[in-house]
Amino acid sequence: MKYAKVIVDVPASAINQTFDYRVPEQFSDVIQKGCRVLIPFGPRKITGFVVELTNETSLTKLKDIIDVLDITPVLTDELIELGKWLAEDIICLYISAFQAMLPAVLKAKYDKEVVKLTDEALTIELDNVFQGRDSVSYDELVAANIRYSQLRKAIDEGLLMIHYDVKSKVTKQYRTMIRSALATHQLIEIAENDLTRAKKQREIVQSFIDNPEAIEQNQLLKRVGTGLSTLKALIEKGILHAEKVEVLRNPYDDNAFEKTEKLLLTEEQQAAIEPINEALDHKKHDVFLLHGVTGSGKTEIYLQAIEKVIQQGKEAIVLVPEISLTPQMVRRFKGRFGSKVAVLHSALSQGEKYDEWRRIHRKEVQVVVGARSAVFAPFENLGIIIIDEEHESTYKQEDQPRYHARDVAIYRGNFHQCPVVLGSATPTLESFARAQKGIYKLLSLTKRTNEQEMPEIQIVDMREELHRGNRTMFSLELKEKIEACIARGEQIVLLLNRRGYSTFVMCRDCGHVQQCPHCDIALTYHKQHHRMKCHYCSHEEPVPQTCPKCSSDLIRFFGTGTERVEEAINQLIPQASVIRMDVDTTRRKGAHEKLLQRFANKEADILLGTQMIAKGLDFPNVTLVGVLTADSMLHLPDFRAAERTFQLLTQVSGRAGRHQLPGEVIIQTYTTEHYSIEHAKNYDFLAFYEQEMRTRRTFQYPPYVYLALINVSHPNQVKVMQTTQTIVQLLHQKLSDQTRILGPTPSPLSRIKNRYRYQCLIKYKHEPEIRKTIQMILHHFSKEMENDDLTITIDMQPHQLT
Ligand code: ADP
Ligand code: ZN
Ligand code: ZN
Repeated sequence: MKYAKVIVDVPASAINQTFDYRVPEQFSDVIQKGCRVLIPFGPRKITGFVVELTNETSLTKLKDIIDVLDITPVLTDELIELGKWLAEDIICLYISAFQAMLPAVLKAKYDKEVVKLTDEALTIELDNVFQGRDSVSYDELVAANIRYSQLRKAIDEGLLMIHYDVKSKVTKQYRTMIRSALATHQLIEIAENDLTRAKKQREIVQSFIDNPEAIEQNQLLKRVGTGLSTLKALIEKGILHAEKVEVLRNPYDDNAFEKTEKLLLTEEQQAAIEPINEALDHKKHDVFLLHGVTGSGKTEIYLQAIEKVIQQGKEAIVLVPEISLTPQMVRRFKGRFGSKVAVLHSALSQGEKYDEWRRIHRKEVQVVVGARSAVFAPFENLGIIIIDEEHESTYKQEDQPRYHARDVAIYRGNFHQCPVVLGSATPTLESFARAQKGIYKLLSLTKRTNEQEMPEIQIVDMREELHRGNRTMFSLELKEKIEACIARGEQIVLLLNRRGYSTFVMCRDCGHVQQCPHCDIALTYHKQHHRMKCHYCSHEEPVPQTCPKCSSDLIRFFGTGTERVEEAINQLIPQASVIRMDVDTTRRKGAHEKLLQRFANKEADILLGTQMIAKGLDFPNVTLVGVLTADSMLHLPDFRAAERTFQLLTQVSGRAGRHQLPGEVIIQTYTTEHYSIEHAKNYDFLAFYEQEMRTRRTFQYPPYVYLALINVSHPNQVKVMQTTQTIVQLLHQKLSDQTRILGPTPSPLSRIKNRYRYQCLIKYKHEPEIRKTIQMILHHFSKEMENDDLTITIDMQPHQLT
């Protein structure tokens, strides 16, 4: 008898536990490690992952596995180990770690269909079920008691495939290929002797005589100009052969990418790639921090390292932040490696994502370029993992499971004994500190490949503008520079640092701010629909005409959204045409690319946008970059505020003068003296790093300490406070005296969707038992979490302290 250890999909069940099930005889040669199965759990039927198979169990009264969901395992052995490690490291459920590794299609329940990919006969049992049909539902096959081993054999031989019925715009997933069943000389004979009166049939045969390659059915019919019945006749006579092939929905047309060749590296690039090549040659797991100014040719280094990996017969993962996953970026990888590249990003439909994932799973590609979750790509022979813009906060997932892609990459790099390359112009303090200590190997690129200087940055003090009587959001300098730039026929990128800004409604008489009744945060004004909306829940209400508190009619919206800036530009510089890029104008799929394409075609003078325009864009005609308010982010209650400001200013400045034309940058601010702005002006990462490290040491923040955040929420405020208090007490008992435990405090967002939120923050240096302690605490409250709507969330590497 075989038994399976299964991780079950029950969110509230005790963490990190497997349940044993019996493997019924009919599944015994199908169920493998890494397959999903359907199992009984209490009164329910749920799904789970098989993580181990054994021949013995210490338990009696085991239940049987009901069904097997994957005929080929969806998780590799490595991914199973990774999932266990990850769940323990970040303190989440095994099941959510595993689910994070798979495309969404495999998480939900979709109807499965079994598709026949051949015209030939299958086994008698299978043919009985198909009865001449092209596809049958999976349930029908199961109901017919088909042996799984038989099904699996047919799938392995490419006669059948399982298809998830995912709603997708692309409907055509198979095409019928027609090929000749006979040799050319036989065709000639038939055409001349047997088909003299069947003119159209002869023409088809003639077309195979001229062109013996297999051809897609519709193309063939078009080529000859005839209908399906003619073709069918030839197939029935055994002269031609029809065959279904699956067409994976490839969202990119691989032929549309112009092939690029590798560039001759500069001396600096050569020096930087050598240690990476050496690690590749010796199968060494080194972590490299590639610190290179924008435009210094980091991407070319990635490309050449990957080329070597492919030559070694291995695979590569490249992570880029979601917003840098532009067509420009995709083109650089597809241009070099063509159809060897799969691209995974959130703008793809579920079906497209699944198809890209399967191309990886089936080893049809060797390179995957994608956002955060691509780090879980099911490659089994990894040669390198690259994380571009390693400082980006999007590499940390902000909901369950709260993992950091960098940590996962390093785990996998260690498993495969391959290098991991972290690239950035503005590395995180954590990574740079590790490089300074020699834990990571530092590689530096100090020059742009085009030998152009970085554009000059001018800081404008907006307080002085105000004193001069200028109440607009454009300083005189910026206005004049924009006008001059337009007059020269060049283009401008304007960044509105939106984070920290909100477009809220405030009464100018009494200061009342309209808030969400459920969430304790200001409602956001949406001009398009003229309504107030909450960004946390979906509460909506009309804009008040008079102040609910003092009845004044001087209640207005406040703050600066991109729409307001656009209006201001129209008034101040009426000759300027503007493309606005923000969450609202880029919501629809493909909108982002279209706007950028229009800007590239010079259909507008100004590209105005939020953070999303700061990164990766490369327009030769952009010579002026303006930052409207550099400091709006500085005042957020976030210890990374200065670091984020420095990063953003450096990134956006890199957008100007990337090609022949020299560029300039104007940064408007109310705090000219802040060191993040001063050092950004001089492109002095090292000076910023040193000053910021001093601040972090003084206030005990990472990288000097580790953080862990425990967040508690419940509809009852007293209950939340008491629970958090108990947690703090338990922590004090278990953790060392050097560790600081801050809390209980209300979370910065103290109420969301009618749930009160409290938190406690742990700052620790050396605390080997911290994960065990937190597990113990979760265990302590597990009943209440299951039955009383109590939620406790753990973040072992909090980026947002909310
Ligand atoms: P980064 O990724 O560091 O911002 P890129 O890789 O985008 O820099 O390089 C900037 C520009 O320099 C690109 O247009 C790229 O094609 C070009 N480039 C990179 N390496 C070389 C090289 N060795 N010789 C010539 N041009 C190069
Ligand atoms: Zn009022
Ligand atoms: Zn709300």
